[in-house]
Amino acid sequence: MTELAIHGGPGAITRDPGDMFHWPIVTREDEEAVLEVLRRGAMSGTDVTIQFEAEYAAWIGRKYALAYPSGTESIRAALWACGVGAGDEIIASPVVIWAGCSQALALGATVSFCEIEPDTLCPDPADIERRIGPRTRAIVVVHYCGYPADMNAITAIARRHGLRLVEDVSHAHGGLHRGRMVGTFGDVGAMSVMSAKGLAVGEGGMLVTDDRALYERAVAYGHYERTGVALRWSPPSGGSITSEALKVYAGVPLGTYKHRMNQLCSALGRVQLRHYPERMAEIQRAMNRFWDLLDGVPGLRAHRPPRDSGSTMGAWYFPAGLYRADELGGLPLERFCAAVRAEGWPECQPGRNFPLHLHPMFHTADVFRQGAPTVVAFGQRDVRQGPGSLPVAEGLLGRVFSVPWFKHDRPEVITQYAEAFRKVAARAESLLEAWHA
Ligand SMILES: *Cc1c(COP(=O)(O)O)cnc(C)c1O
Repeated sequence: MTELAIHGGPGAITRDPGDMFHWPIVTREDEEAVLEVLRRGAMSGTDVTIQFEAEYAAWIGRKYALAYPSGTESIRAALWACGVGAGDEIIASPVVIWAGCSQALALGATVSFCEIEPDTLCPDPADIERRIGPRTRAIVVVHYCGYPADMNAITAIARRHGLRLVEDVSHAHGGLHRGRMVGTFGDVGAMSVMSAKGLAVGEGGMLVTDDRALYERAVAYGHYERTGVALRWSPPSGGSITSEALKVYAGVPLGTYKHRMNQLCSALGRVQLRHYPERMAEIQRAMNRFWDLLDGVPGLRAHRPPRDSGSTMGAWYFPAGLYRADELGGLPLERFCAAVRAEGWPECQPGRNFPLHLHPMFHTADVFRQGAPTVVAFGQRDVRQGPGSLPVAEGLLGRVFSVPWFKHDRPEVITQYAEAFRKVAARAESLLEAWHA
């Protein structure tokens, strides 16, 4: 076996990856769709967006879809639609971008962070249930890095306690949990479709639900142009207005937010969605190929559901590997990643999202100048959590590493990347010697 590149040997990755990592894939069809909106001057209209919503709802299999300028705003609207308000709590994973839960603070609520499962990296159902209290209003579940959360357990918990369930599907568009698409389990699904995500439409978000009242509340919160008396209410699926909020406050968004999607993005979204299933399938073949090549390598485990579970990783957004230092003589993950980088993949890094429960935003920030931290200033219970409170979530820096996100299934390229990881694991001994020397 050749010397590690970090010790002067030849790197395992010699091939030019070409467009293997390029995303989203944009063709003439995307360009034409965007230009049509641009030439028509219809950027601020809703006709294309309403078509995108209808197609999205049909694809995911829910009655209603509502488009947003960002995933952040779709989650904000979902929480408000679920009734989250001043003094309330939501339960959410701390291992996620701030936009997965911090909107609760702007609603006067707080976040009780739950532990995650060490191998799925998704919210731990048992810990969710432990954290439910008298002020808990909603559970937010993220399908982390595409891994479908344990929705059978979590929906049962939500039902048992009469809580609303919001799925954050930003990492997992099109992923399956035991054969059923994620985003269809919760009362509402909300998700980012910005350009880094699996389904990428520029900047945007989508909210989906089967519940007419939740849908109307979301409309009332930020889609003022669809409720305005002067502009005529036009529900995409027909039916009369049932929500009190809409009847009384038509024309002015209750959130004081403007939640209309830019139609350059919805036009792009319609084309991207049409090609998404086939592109997602190719990513799944490529990523499974990569991990199959590493099957049985000491120290490394795939972050993916068991093969025969009926669950999938969607488009494998932000893919991860799980590290077992004890199988490699205690080699620190930082050193492992440095060696992989030297083999020719400069993106290999340890860790994932910073655990939010330790961030000052959830401890001391006084956002509304109330003279008290925002997490308690609206009469919330003090559920602040310090270092050591969620050890699994806090330990990811030493346990999780990035792996290449292939967009095409090209065996000759994928094999070289897998070889880089395999080679470093096989030569962990020499890294340990150099480390101790
Ligand atoms: C990206 C992301 C968001 C925020 O979406 P934006 O479109 O960037 O506003 C929310 N939650 C998760 C899990 C995300 O990955």
